[in-house]
Amino acid sequence: MTSVRWWVVIPKRQHFNAPSFDNPPSTLDNPPRPMASVHLDNVTKIYPNGVAAVDGVSLTVADHEFVALVGPSGCGKSTTLRLIAGLEAPDGGTIRIGDRDVTDVPPKDRDIAMVFQNYALYPHMTVRGNLSFALRLRRMPGLLTRLRHPGRARAVRREIDDRVNRAADLLDIGTLMDRKPRDLSGGQRQRVAVGRAIVRDPAAFLFDEPLSNLDARLRLTTRAELKRLHQRLRTTTVYVTHDQEEAMTLGDRIVVMRDGRIQQADPPLQTYHSPLNRFVAGFIGMPPMNFFDGTLAVLDNRLTFVEEGGSGPPAASKTGALTSSELTLHEKGFRVALPSVAPWIDGRMVGRVGGRVVLGIRPEHFSLSPIRSEAGLVVSAPLDVRLTMIEPLGGNADLYLRTAGHDAVVARVDAMASGRLPEVGSSVRVHVDLRRVQLFEPGEAGMNLSLEPQSSGRSATELAHAMA
Ligand code: ADP
Ligand code: MG
Repeated sequence: MTSVRWWVVIPKRQHFNAPSFDNPPSTLDNPPRPMASVHLDNVTKIYPNGVAAVDGVSLTVADHEFVALVGPSGCGKSTTLRLIAGLEAPDGGTIRIGDRDVTDVPPKDRDIAMVFQNYALYPHMTVRGNLSFALRLRRMPGLLTRLRHPGRARAVRREIDDRVNRAADLLDIGTLMDRKPRDLSGGQRQRVAVGRAIVRDPAAFLFDEPLSNLDARLRLTTRAELKRLHQRLRTTTVYVTHDQEEAMTLGDRIVVMRDGRIQQADPPLQTYHSPLNRFVAGFIGMPPMNFFDGTLAVLDNRLTFVEEGGSGPPAASKTGALTSSELTLHEKGFRVALPSVAPWIDGRMVGRVGGRVVLGIRPEHFSLSPIRSEAGLVVSAPLDVRLTMIEPLGGNADLYLRTAGHDAVVARVDAMASGRLPEVGSSVRVHVDLRRVQLFEPGEAGMNLSLEPQSSGRSATELAHAMA
């Protein structure tokens, strides 16, 4: 009888941050990488000119997470990124990468890779040279060691080549390896810049508006590639953009900044559906949310929004339920009976009766026909407005509408469903989805009053939705 011996080959531990590299580098990165989360704790940066570019920012980016930092120009996105990279020193607070406090660690020792808008490739080097440069600098032993241990040097060189080739495969730039940057298109250069970050296999990627130099079409395809890339590599990423759509499509979470402060840090759809304040509501979503100034009133026992410019309380409506809520255009201003969704909202709102509020309606929450819930109930209110302009977009159309108080209300409607679009200059009846209107305190960053206090994430409008 012959005995059979089994050999179990245990593969070397997979390289933590690069599972797509099927044969993980063995000599380049030992030991295995620790957790690669990024923490900012009450970080402040005041430039010498007195600008508080980053003002008490606290943020945790989890291991593997893709966080998109978004906000208008000058809100402190790049400064935040440069602080994480170590290119700026904070005036207060601490920065940690994984378990390591890196607040005072120089950039090169932070184990991060940054990709800028302007690529910053070495012009005199080929693509291959650009990709391998940082690794050669870091990993190749000195000349003496190379002479003494030629085998080791060869192994390192092979590893570097492997990594560069894998990155090139991943980014589909294998055929460009011998070209110089000047012989590449903008999109190709951007890929090389991303490739240079990938080969370093850092704890985290930092991107600063990497797509802004590309034309619209290329921006879309490159955006999709970056998303796929993150799905494969899963490297912790902080991605800066001023483009809310880019942030929405890429981020596991989006962090909205304004004047150096974080306004909200939530998953894209939660940010869209439950913006914490008017600034976030206006910044996330395109075309932006429409805002109407007005006051809260109780009419016919119902909480009612009266648009600014209204001529006193309009005639009491005889409605009783959400399904028959009314939104009528007065000579001056419209009013809308708000859905009564939960005791707490009425309770909180009652204290605000007579006070000024801001009503927010997203363009996509208008329709040319009444909107029904799944149960078949009408959940919209009609609003008669004047149509001043149409922007056809193919399947959709943006209607520019005028109410008494507002010149440029935008409604995005389904151009197919509505058959013929109304004529410019005519009066049209649009329908507002009452489940989705939101109320804010006055002011640019007024708090969202429609959200449940100590929000569990569910807004009043979502509750209304659930009840409809
Ligand atoms: P963003 O990337 O969101 O456009 P930045 O972080 O570049 O914003 O800038 C935030 C604020 O800090 C802006 O008001 C900007 O003018 C100012 N700022 C940026 N860099 C410097 C600098 N080196 N010196 C002085 N002020 C700066
Ligand atoms: Mg910037």
